[in-house]
Amino acid sequence: MALSIDTVGVIGAGQMGAGIAQVAAQAGMSVLLNDLSEDRVHAALATINGHLSRQVQRGQLDEPGRNAILERIQFAPTFDKLADCDLVVEAASENEEVKRKIFTSLRAFMKPDAILASNTSSISITRLASVTVNPERFIGIHFMNPVPRMQLVELIRGIATKDDTFEAAKNFVIRLGKTATMSEDFPAFIVNRILLPMINEAVYTLYEGVGSVEAIDTAMRLGANHPMGPLQLADFIGLDTCLAVMQVLHEGLADSKYRPCPLLVKYVEAGWLGRKTQRGFYDYRGEHPVPTR
Ligand code: NAD
Repeated sequence: MALSIDTVGVIGAGQMGAGIAQVAAQAGMSVLLNDLSEDRVHAALATINGHLSRQVQRGQLDEPGRNAILERIQFAPTFDKLADCDLVVEAASENEEVKRKIFTSLRAFMKPDAILASNTSSISITRLASVTVNPERFIGIHFMNPVPRMQLVELIRGIATKDDTFEAAKNFVIRLGKTATMSEDFPAFIVNRILLPMINEAVYTLYEGVGSVEAIDTAMRLGANHPMGPLQLADFIGLDTCLAVMQVLHEGLADSKYRPCPLLVKYVEAGWLGRKTQRGFYDYRGEHPVPTR
């Protein structure tokens, strides 16, 4: 029988980690949230509180309900605090070295049958699982951004992932009220294999002067009926994450069509990472976003 998941650990309290913590707590699970500093966890809790307050304003949640959800999320300063977790989802920065270090040390603190998952957007699940002692209890659980709003979760099995690990992960996704799709373990899986080359092409379109930031986003919103323009979406995802995914596609599939646009590299080198740093293809520091090119 697949393991039932009642206590969830989340590593990384950035935009994705905060979202995963929120939906798990809203589904009644206890959540332990870890990051490099307590400040980041406090910032995540403030974001979650903001989302829940809007639900209260809309009459979708009452005050006691909101407080109960927030109380279910606790700060875990060190990995030994994750010993009771049935599942730990890693949502730290999209950097293989960072993730490998986390997985190498984390497993020793977890229950032997607990499941370890990565929310990576692109990195091989098989390769990440290989640094753990039991890769059969490892799986990719790839949430979409923003986690509370997006319906899809991609599940990615590594070569060693056992059926009951997959079943437990699928049940977890269902308990969150979301829909799981299954993707094979190839670079960037399904959604980002298709989405990120489109975003990268939009950056090339800007780089080559075919259109301005505004023209490109308007063209794709009104011409292709996308809810957000590709550059607006890139800012929303985080330009560092976009670049990291393109690098994984480029290296993993060895095809020049995945070459990251030099302009994307330049923005990341400038530290203009999109909304999370207040500046990317748009500047978000004023009342309205202003294109930076
Ligand atoms: P983010 O930059 O908002 O947050 C990353 C967090 O990880 C930061 O708070 C950072 O302090 C923390 N962190 C870094 N190293 C750590 C460590 N060793 N231990 C604990 N915490 C650590 O990034 P994000 O957008 O939340 O992305 C997180 C993961 O989710 C990445 O793997 C990314 O590819 C994936 N993802 C992102 C999106 C998206 O749209 N942004 C969508 C799906 C999946």
